[in-house]
Amino acid sequence: MTPSEAVADTTPCAIAGCGGPSVRSLARTEVRKAFPQLSEEGRRAPLCKDHYKQWKKATKEARALDRLGW
Ligand SMILES: [Zn+2]
Repeated sequence: MTPSEAVADTTPCAIAGCGGPSVRSLARTEVRKAFPQLSEEGRRAPLCKDHYKQWKKATKEARALDRLGW
């Protein structure tokens, strides 16, 4: 196994104070739409199950608002 294959399993959640095991690695700019407190360090941000759910919910609402706004 190469280190790059192991990243998603071993990297802790990027949200401060969480540190749970990540289930998804997302583009950091996308994650920052839902979690603006996230640092801009790095290109990708791993999220744990709970924060991934919150991210999905938050971005879904943002997209719905965009549609209403335009
Ligand atoms: Zn988390």
